[in-house]
Amino acid sequence: MTNWILDILFPKKCVGCGKEGSYFCQNCIRDIKQTDLVCPRCERLAVGGQTHPVCRRKYGLDGLWSLGIYQDSLRSAIQQLKYKGIKDLAEILMDITIEYWAKYQPFVLDQIKKDQGVGWVVIPVPLYWWRANSRGFNQSSLIGQILSKKLGLGYCDGLKRIRYTRSQAKLKGKQRKQNISGAFEISSDYTLSPKPYTLLIDDVWTTGSTLRECCWILKRAGAKKVWAITLAR
Ligand SMILES: [Zn+2]
Ligand SMILES: [Zn+2]
Repeated sequence: MTNWILDILFPKKCVGCGKEGSYFCQNCIRDIKQTDLVCPRCERLAVGGQTHPVCRRKYGLDGLWSLGIYQDSLRSAIQQLKYKGIKDLAEILMDITIEYWAKYQPFVLDQIKKDQGVGWVVIPVPLYWWRANSRGFNQSSLIGQILSKKLGLGYCDGLKRIRYTRSQAKLKGKQRKQNISGAFEISSDYTLSPKPYTLLIDDVWTTGSTLRECCWILKRAGAKKVWAITLAR
């Protein structure tokens, strides 16, 4: 069936308000609330989302940039992408991300432009194979691939999840750290072509324990800089 027939039979509806015409209407896009940018270690305000000098650690994240607060229309968009598999939303969300990123405190984006992308790679937080199979795809890989194309950067499935972990959703800070510890390892794709600078991609930053653990693995494998980029926080 051609697209216009599909559009008539199954009209696209906004994931925020239900209005027909697109998956994410302009009003709901405007409703996305910007997050204050914070240091990924202490989660206090930080210019551009850069890690405070006193919070820097050898294997720690260098910064964190998130599109918006995990609520309302942005939360429904992420959930519909993840659980309903509306992949068009990944493209829409990445367009918004790049637009807002360029507009608000684009510290790391400026750095990438200055480096002309050389040495930078996009790496997603992986799902355990069982979860990726049951869902059919990994939302972080999908947004990571789209982001790498739009910014003209390399993309690499640089991390592997080597054991199953319980969902982080119901766990508290310390339990989350224990739950995720040892869950990842570096992949052969990364070892074959390591890049010094990484944009580490995930959909949501909650306590940051998953992204911190992934950063630790990447830096131990030789990454010099790792920035966490998420759709929401
Ligand atoms: Zn809407
Ligand atoms: Zn800090």
